[in-house]
Amino acid sequence: MSLPFSFEVYPPRKPELQAALHATIHALAESGPAFITVTYGANGSSRDASLDCLRFIRENTSIEPLAHLTCVGTTKAEITDIVDSFIDAGIHQFLALRGDPPEGSDVSSDYLGELSSATELVELIHARGGGRVTVAVAAFPNGHPQSSTPQQDIDVLLAKQAAGAEFALTQLFFEADDYLTFAAAARTAGVTMPIIPGIMPVTSLGRLRRIVEITGERMPADLEVALESAASPAEARAIGTEHAVALCRALVAGGAPSLHLYAFNEHETVLAVLAQLGEPA
Ligand code: FAD
Repeated sequence: MSLPFSFEVYPPRKPELQAALHATIHALAESGPAFITVTYGANGSSRDASLDCLRFIRENTSIEPLAHLTCVGTTKAEITDIVDSFIDAGIHQFLALRGDPPEGSDVSSDYLGELSSATELVELIHARGGGRVTVAVAAFPNGHPQSSTPQQDIDVLLAKQAAGAEFALTQLFFEADDYLTFAAAARTAGVTMPIIPGIMPVTSLGRLRRIVEITGERMPADLEVALESAASPAEARAIGTEHAVALCRALVAGGAPSLHLYAFNEHETVLAVLAQLGEPA
């Protein structure tokens, strides 16, 4: 594909899954992504596993890894140590996130910790890394669940840009217009950094329902109905792939600068999406 693309993986949840993830990383790297991002477990729970995975990408492929990091619930000294340890390990690209407080805690309480927003983490990473680091941030085409208005999401993105963010990766969404409308409004408001759409090919009904529940995104009725009617897992996979391809085509036609694909630690589906995108529509 001529447009740049990238992938997200997560650190293995069990040691026995590590070998399969390494094989997936090799397969993803061979397709020539701009970078591969590695998620960071809620409240730093995967800190060592994330760093191991980032190191694996750096030492075994020619692709630059990008580390997700969250600051919720930590002290400034703790997160500074974490940022320094990642930079010392040769990681120079970051996705600065606030993260979510543990379930049941009050987000308006002091629990947020000493850094209360992703913007402050952008500043901290730049302060520690100087000219060596690139910092990306999250954006929410359909609004962050805690934002009161769509304008708040754009104002926060502007603040992240002013703090030194170089590009944004979006939360998943299912309609191209969700992204295109948001990106146009952000541009009008003064956001000049690239806003890269995050696309999650969803290949089973169970996964679709879980994702909608976790993210609060609107259920895509067409995809739900199609997955419900799938006669086999293979058919469901083909339906999810086709849906993601159609979404990517609409995004590219609307001017998206790049595509970020959530791989779910499997390479087959996201590579099938890219392969089909390379074919005539
Ligand atoms: P922020 O930008 O700080 O925003 C959080 C909320 O606070 C928003 O409602 C915002 O509008 C509001 N806000 C921020 N600043 C201000 C201000 N100055 N004034 C008023 N309101 C403000 N979570 C993980 O734990 N690990 C991951 O690896 C991970 N990866 C992710 C990758 C992507 C691409 C995305 C989109 C999300 C990811 N998340 C991850 C989830 C993320 O941590 C949560 O969505 C979190 O609730 C918000 O993070 P944020 O960086 O957008 O926070």
